[in-house]
Amino acid sequence: MSKRPEEIIRDEIRALAAYHVPESGGMVKLDAMENPYRLPADLQVEIAHLAETAALNRYPDPAAARLKSRLREAMQIPADADVLLGNGSDEIIQMLIMAAARPGTAVLGVEPSFVMFRMIATFCGVRFVGVELTADFMLDVERMLAEIARHQPALIFLAYPNNPTGNLFDADAVRRIMEAAPGLVVVDEAYHAFADATFMPRLVDHPNLLVMRTLSKLGLAGLRLGILCGRKAWLEHVDKVRLPYNINVLTQLIAEKVLQHGDLLRQQAAAIKAERARVFNGLQNMPGIRPCPTQANFILFRTTAANRIFDRLKQRGILIKNLHGAHPALAECLRATIGTPEENTRFLDALKDAVNAA
Ligand code: PMP
Repeated sequence: MSKRPEEIIRDEIRALAAYHVPESGGMVKLDAMENPYRLPADLQVEIAHLAETAALNRYPDPAAARLKSRLREAMQIPADADVLLGNGSDEIIQMLIMAAARPGTAVLGVEPSFVMFRMIATFCGVRFVGVELTADFMLDVERMLAEIARHQPALIFLAYPNNPTGNLFDADAVRRIMEAAPGLVVVDEAYHAFADATFMPRLVDHPNLLVMRTLSKLGLAGLRLGILCGRKAWLEHVDKVRLPYNINVLTQLIAEKVLQHGDLLRQQAAAIKAERARVFNGLQNMPGIRPCPTQANFILFRTTAANRIFDRLKQRGILIKNLHGAHPALAECLRATIGTPEENTRFLDALKDAVNAA
């Protein structure tokens, strides 16, 4: 008689809710921090040619050497830092935690933040310590330092800007955390393209700092490419848990090509930032809506009736993210990704109607 799932699958995995991706066919999709812009037609043709001639019968370059050197240039990675690539930064988070997962190890993060830090810790059988942010979603440094001293975490994850709140933490607070950390501090700069600050140059003077980036918010979410930068002494070990061909042939070719068009990526980010200011203004002027300061390509805002507003927007064909219930600090909160000007106008109009009706 074969065993039942309760006897085989770990309790903490059975207790998880699967990462939910809602159906979005035909909708204005403002729920997942994607870049709304496609690549220009001439670049699409070049990419089609690359796909046509790619050696798909061969395994990809396991070191992705050419792509890494493009990334170094495009992301101004310090020359003496090493680079490790992941199938999205999600996979990098997994590699890091897997490599450090001794029995009894703790991983520390803040809450609310990106849920995969906690989820992947759970997948790896590692204890996750979530330290609450302050009421305005900033780092509570004293509390962080106390929890670091108590749990001696192997890894600390800080999203900078943070998701889902959108804000940048105080850089000096991050520096104090790096100085107090017994292990690694991973600064996750997924939203770097839309922010005015970065820890990338700090890699030079902080041996326990790792900086993570992704191409997902730059218009290449479909390619799945995450980037980890830091000292070789750390990355050479993390690299051992990386599956050998994790960055496929097409991702390597296409990312290399698109990264040659830095101006295009910067223009798209600039357009998103300009729209972010307009949407923020629109939200600020709506009764009962309080947007949070943001340096990302999305805006978190508090309402008085998140569930009802979310449903009304959905009925109008607009999908955003409902965070009500995700964490007590996010009560009545919704999060909208910045889309094209037309999409944003549709969102603001529908939201105005939804607020009036709520
Ligand atoms: N870090 C943060 C803070 C994120 O918000 C996300 C995506 N929502 C990721 C990492 C993962 O990005 P990807 O796996 O697409 O690189």
